[in-house]
Amino acid sequence: MSRIVYVNGEYMPEEDATVSIFDRGFLMADGVYEVTSVLGGKLIDFDGHAARLARSLAELDMAQPIAHEALLAAHRDLVAKNGIDNGLVYLQVTRGNPGDRDFAFPDPQTTPGTLVMFTQSKPDLIDNPTAATGIKVISIPDQRWARRDIKTVQLLYPSMGKMAAKAAGAGDAWLVEDGHVTEGTSNNAYIVKNGTIITRELSSDILHGITRAAVLRFAAEAQVAVEERPFSIDEAQAADEAFVTSATTFVLPVIEIDGARVGTGTPGPVARRLRAIYIEESLKAAI
Ligand code: PMP
Repeated sequence: MSRIVYVNGEYMPEEDATVSIFDRGFLMADGVYEVTSVLGGKLIDFDGHAARLARSLAELDMAQPIAHEALLAAHRDLVAKNGIDNGLVYLQVTRGNPGDRDFAFPDPQTTPGTLVMFTQSKPDLIDNPTAATGIKVISIPDQRWARRDIKTVQLLYPSMGKMAAKAAGAGDAWLVEDGHVTEGTSNNAYIVKNGTIITRELSSDILHGITRAAVLRFAAEAQVAVEERPFSIDEAQAADEAFVTSATTFVLPVIEIDGARVGTGTPGPVARRLRAIYIEESLKAAI
């Protein structure tokens, strides 16, 4: 059975969904996106993702395509129409189709944005086998643009990073700038030393992860100390534990960095505990 997807206010089978070749998302990567995970048919942290979407749009002078309540309703409709139990809702807003290719932004009054949404089923979101083993990461230079706080669809460099990781037999790449880790290709990065969680502070250098915000809140509630500051690969390799967070992987242990074992080389207690708390609390708060 084909998926039902959402395009500009309408639901249709994926085969019937089209976007113009003149759409600025296609021609210029002039678009932003969000990924909201679904557990037991309910949305995890929808308000956080909607708020970050609004911020990404505002930073790029793009209009909010539909109101918050309508966005929530569309997410829920898609989950229901596709019978998603565990999985995700992907949302993308672009600056639309102005008719011709031109660097200048079109007038939003005459060129409405394009809004598309679709679901992906991921039955193993909670029982993710990689969460039990942890992942290896490699480090590569962070050669992305400098506004990583805006969640744009310019994902070529992160894709190249994933391919480099794959070629090296690793699960992901950590991006390094000026001697410090910014984040993973599609996640925020953390280390744990002497019981303290260390993760880079929020700035335009990194995406302000919705999962990061939740995990740091749960860490504080569990009396785990958190230091928000940059760390180097050397410091990470000498840490007791490392992990990453994202909406679809939750808390995922990192067991090796550039071939060096982190701690015991197995998922550490802080990462495992935070993963369990994150899943438990997210299930409680899901809408
Ligand atoms: N950093 C980057 C570069 C990402 O692509 C993502 C995932 N979209 C994250 C961090 C994690 O963000 P979130 O927890 O909101 O999924």
